[in-house]
Amino acid sequence: MPDHLYESPDRELLLIRRFIADEGPAATLRWSLRLPRLCWLGIRIPAPRLGWPAGKKPGDVDVVGGPLVCRDRSAWLRARTEIRAQLPPVSQTVRDGADELFGRGHAKRSREGTIDQLATELLCARGQLRPSFEHMFAFEVKVAWFGRDSTLHGAKLGGSPQKMARKQARGLTRMGPDHVGLLRAVVTEPCTAPAGGAWMHAGAHASAAADAYEQAIRARVEDPFATIVASIGAVPGRREHLAGSLGVNVPILGQWQNPLRGEPEVERARERLRAAFANVLEDTAATRVPLLVLACAHTSCGALFVPARAIDPWQTLCPHCSGLTTVAPIENTVPPNDRLS
Ligand SMILES: [Zn+2]
Repeated sequence: MPDHLYESPDRELLLIRRFIADEGPAATLRWSLRLPRLCWLGIRIPAPRLGWPAGKKPGDVDVVGGPLVCRDRSAWLRARTEIRAQLPPVSQTVRDGADELFGRGHAKRSREGTIDQLATELLCARGQLRPSFEHMFAFEVKVAWFGRDSTLHGAKLGGSPQKMARKQARGLTRMGPDHVGLLRAVVTEPCTAPAGGAWMHAGAHASAAADAYEQAIRARVEDPFATIVASIGAVPGRREHLAGSLGVNVPILGQWQNPLRGEPEVERARERLRAAFANVLEDTAATRVPLLVLACAHTSCGALFVPARAIDPWQTLCPHCSGLTTVAPIENTVPPNDRLS
């Protein structure tokens, strides 16, 4: 099974899985896409399931979502108090040292940040985080790859696929999310380098990849969505999201706010989008962050559902038709670097 993104038969889905939808801080593109830290995400949902006419762009929505919130302010304050009581105090020596190195008040701020983070995890464990539909975002994802020979590869280069990608993103703006993006990621073939130099080499190669890709994608300032160019470096024998040395470099072109909000037709589409997710997620407490919504792959069913927590969420039983639905293949359980050693 291929382990690097560039060699996958479905680079888009693998990139979404590893860099956007995975649990935990390894999903390093989430902040670049300005997603809320606590969020729900629909992944690769056929647009007709969201009330969008079949046959119109986009066919599938790669990523769509919104924030998870705790509506009970007193529960939030109680969780913070509980966490605060459990954290050991920071000694005066540590506080003084941190203030001297990073500026006055640094130790206090970082402690408050830790309390916030642990308190949200506590709320999640207690089932007090719920999806909100007041603010929604959507992304079209395109992935090209950059070879060792410093050339771009992938079927979606050239003028007409570029136009098509922009058309798909424009279609997303007509569905009414607040914030629409076209993520243009370029992944790289790992380069070999003299011992110890692989990380630096990967970063430099990724940066060259970003330059080449930016030339190729023909983003326009007048596009009603944001184009985000991200490049991801790779080293031999390790998956990109685990290897630590990433050249994620993110220039952004265009605009974040959907300028079509307010048009009656767009607002009607937004209401259908909201209703489709509200049907699945209303009264669902988040047991995982991000909370995932998938579409059953069986065409006779196609239901949207939240995958069960205990098993691989990407290959799971649909609760409606009981069919096994594979959104993404199971990953190798043994990371490649362990297999090599
Ligand atoms: Zn099904």
